[in-house]
Amino acid sequence: MKDFKRGIPMTLEKGSAPNRPIKVLTDVSRVYLPLTYGNVRRLTPVVADYDTVERGGMLGKPTDQDDAALYSSVTGVVAGMTHIQHPIYGELTCSAVDRILTEEPVEEPLPQMPDDLTAEQIIAACHQAGIVDELDGVQLHTKLRSWADFDTPPCLLLDAIEAEPYQSCAYAVLKAYGRQVLIGLRLAAKAAGIPMTRLLLHTAESRVRKMAAQFDPNDIREIKRRRYPVFNKEPSEYEGKCGFVGTQACLALYRAVAFGAPHIDGFLTVAGDALETSYNLQVPFGTPIEDALQACGIGKNVSLLLIGDALTGVEITDRSLPILPGMTCLVALRDPIPYRVRSCIGCGQCAAVCHKGLLPYEIAKRYENMQYERLTALEPEDCDGCGVCSAVCPAHRPIAQTVLQAGESAEGTIFVNWGDESWNP
Ligand code: SF4
Ligand code: SF4
Repeated sequence: MKDFKRGIPMTLEKGSAPNRPIKVLTDVSRVYLPLTYGNVRRLTPVVADYDTVERGGMLGKPTDQDDAALYSSVTGVVAGMTHIQHPIYGELTCSAVDRILTEEPVEEPLPQMPDDLTAEQIIAACHQAGIVDELDGVQLHTKLRSWADFDTPPCLLLDAIEAEPYQSCAYAVLKAYGRQVLIGLRLAAKAAGIPMTRLLLHTAESRVRKMAAQFDPNDIREIKRRRYPVFNKEPSEYEGKCGFVGTQACLALYRAVAFGAPHIDGFLTVAGDALETSYNLQVPFGTPIEDALQACGIGKNVSLLLIGDALTGVEITDRSLPILPGMTCLVALRDPIPYRVRSCIGCGQCAAVCHKGLLPYEIAKRYENMQYERLTALEPEDCDGCGVCSAVCPAHRPIAQTVLQAGESAEGTIFVNWGDESWNP
């Protein structure tokens, strides 16, 4: 049994963004919406260049019946196809849509929900809306179907923990749309035949109390004094067996069932010391990152821009990349930690915090010295890229990336060939 108590303490301080109302970004001039994701997903366009499409109108229909359609997130004119190399999603072929009208999203009063929907009807509404769960980028209807058909979890957990330093959009969505999210969670549980739901939170006491005003306190399972990365967050009697779903996915499910609305807007935290003001933004999917940064007052001195949060984010330089489902944080830093190749001082902190019980400094040493044959014993492929070792390294070494690279080599052929002395081509 591995020691899962390692890691670094999770911060409760997430700056000012969670204290502000969600800022709705509407004045986007162009959005980029993917019709293909590499070889994984492919949709057939249903509109031609210069066609006008309404917000929520279909742009692409799926070639696979289990896939969902693509909808426009703005009212506008189709401006053609653009190929984008995205650091997370890979090669995308996007339909560009130039917005021609300003849409002000309307805050809906809670309607009378149909209370007699069957599980099949809920899954169908979810499929129709094209909901993507922000936790894992998986289409929600496929998760619900899989839980309903095989291995139904005993409990469905709404994961609003936000373990990394900056992200607070799950909390912001819960604060603004708590009732709707809760209804969405219950709908998801009903669709999958899951008998129990719980809400997972890790935030300041005052914020938990605000949540408690919206939710039955029995529904909340607060994560206290946890260390990052977060494990063992399920109720102990169900450990390792629970299903997880995101707040945005639950809100989208509520809207799909209540209004037949497609999933075309996302929420993300935009934070960091290179911004005048940090916000949780609501944006139409496909909005360029530059627009989100401008909405928060981006300065000139940006040294590091990350998609994702500080520990596990991916550095980018191209601000024209679109914001897509699953992107929940954008960090712009003026004076980031200066990650660079420095000598290891042998302090052992990286090993002390690794929740996988690895020896990151030793893996990095053998990898950098091309001692591949001595790498297998250290099991670098067990690394999940949590980023904790990099965060604690006093020499500011990008140790997590090195361990990940070593793990990838370990699973590749060159490693096997180099390390196997009996190999004789
Ligand atoms: S990134 Fe990998 S090596 Fe580093 S602490 Fe996390 S699991 Fe361990
Ligand atoms: S934390 Fe950094 S300096 Fe310390 S042993 Fe690990 S790699 Fe070396």
